Parts: sequence; C-alpha cells; structure tokens
Amino acid sequence: MNNIAEQLRLAYQNLTQKCQQFKLSNNNVQLIAVSKTKPATDILSAYAAGQRKFAENYPQELVEKQLLLADKTDIEWHFIGPLQSNKTNLVAQSAQWVHSIDRFKIAKRLAQQRPVALGKLKVLIQINISQEASKAGIAPQMMLELAGQIAALPQLALKGLMAIPAAGINDESSFKAMQQLSLQLQQHYPDATELSMGMSNDWPLALKNGATMIRLGTVIFGERAYNKGPNEE
Ligand SMILES: *Cc1c(COP(=O)(O)O)cnc(C)c1O
Repeated sequence: MNNIAEQLRLAYQNLTQKCQQFKLSNNNVQLIAVSKTKPATDILSAYAAGQRKFAENYPQELVEKQLLLADKTDIEWHFIGPLQSNKTNLVAQSAQWVHSIDRFKIAKRLAQQRPVALGKLKVLIQINISQEASKAGIAPQMMLELAGQIAALPQLALKGLMAIPAAGINDESSFKAMQQLSLQLQQHYPDATELSMGMSNDWPLALKNGATMIRLGTVIFGERAYNKGPNEE
C-alpha cells in the first residue's frame, strides 16, 4: 500500500472517530481530497484506494488533470479556488461543484457558460467569516442578497456555504458563526444544506460546528512544494 492510500485510510478513520465523538452521522460528511499542485498520478493513487471526490484551486490545472483522467468518469470535481472572469468557462465546463462564489458577476458567467448537457452546476457562496482583508469571500450580511441573485439562475443550484476561517486562531467562533449563517440560509433555501469548511489542521473544529464537506490536502497528499498561483496570497 502506498503512502497516499494509507494516509487516506487514516483520514477516513479519524473522521469516523470524530463523528462518533461529536455524535454525528458519518453519512452527512463528505471528505474532499484537495489535489492542487499534485500530479495526476497522486489522484490515481487515491482513486485506486476508493476516493472519488477531488478539489482543485486553479482552473487550468483542473482542466489538465481532468483530461489526463478522462477515463475516470466517476470522479466528482470540486473547484475551490479564486475565480476570475476570464477563467469561468474552464470551470463551467469541467467542475460539478464550485465552492468559491463571491460575486454575482462570476455566478452569472458560470451560468451562461454551463453546458446544458452537464446539468446544473452546484455552487456554494464563500463567506469571509474572519473578515480578513486579504481573503476572498463576501461579508456575512451580504449573503442573502447574493443567494437571491444566484437562485434566479436556472443553470446553477445553490447548495450552501463555504469558508476558510483565519489560520491559527484556535477558537471556534468563526466555525460557530458559519453554522448560524448556514441555518439562516436554509430558512430561505431549504436545499442549501452544505457547509464546506475545515482543512488539514482545523477540520475537527469545523466538523463539531456543522461542516458537511471537509477539504483535506496535506494530510492525504503530503506537503505541497508551495507554488503560489497568480490569484493566491
Ligand atoms: C489548499 C486548500 C485546502 C487544503 O488545505 P490543507 O491544509 O492542505 O488540507 C482546502 N481548502 C482550500 C480552499 C484550499 O485552498
């Protein structure tokens, strides 16, 4: 068994254990393997070990890997990175999920460019919950306005919220605030039940506060040789 398969097995084992500890049903939490900067062969290793949900941060990289793995038609691709207008077509044609919607302009372009044959693009609104100037995402008080605009686009399906709480703060306040926002959103949009939060170093806190999708990179694929993308801080 290679490293990736073993690390993936451990990640699922830890997830099951934490779900038991917090008295949550395992079935409500999806583990998304974040493969950004890693080669397609690493995705294949995880795929061989049973993983089907993968996330990428850069549109070009998503398209390239998808092409290399074209025969793996049951992979579910999630786009989780910053998205500029000139790259929306790549994402509209290749992802099933986009977690990082923070402007109506981007949502509208994705809707226009989504091929009908692929069905609705599932989207999450990214909230800048720790109010960091350097981070993407909208302010919490803008959530319902953007949600209303997205809900009017028939090619998109609004499925919930995403956040990247500030690194290093070892308190739960941002996660708790996201859980409250999610409940508020669901009062208006009952299908928008997903809450994407939690990364390698903070996923247990996210899980405890209602995360339904955790995005794990490093614990599965190892450290990234950090290759800063053009849109990344
Ligand atoms: C890179 C990235 C992750 C994964 O981070 P790890 O700390 O490696 O688990 C999750 N979410 C987003 C938005 C990312 O950019």
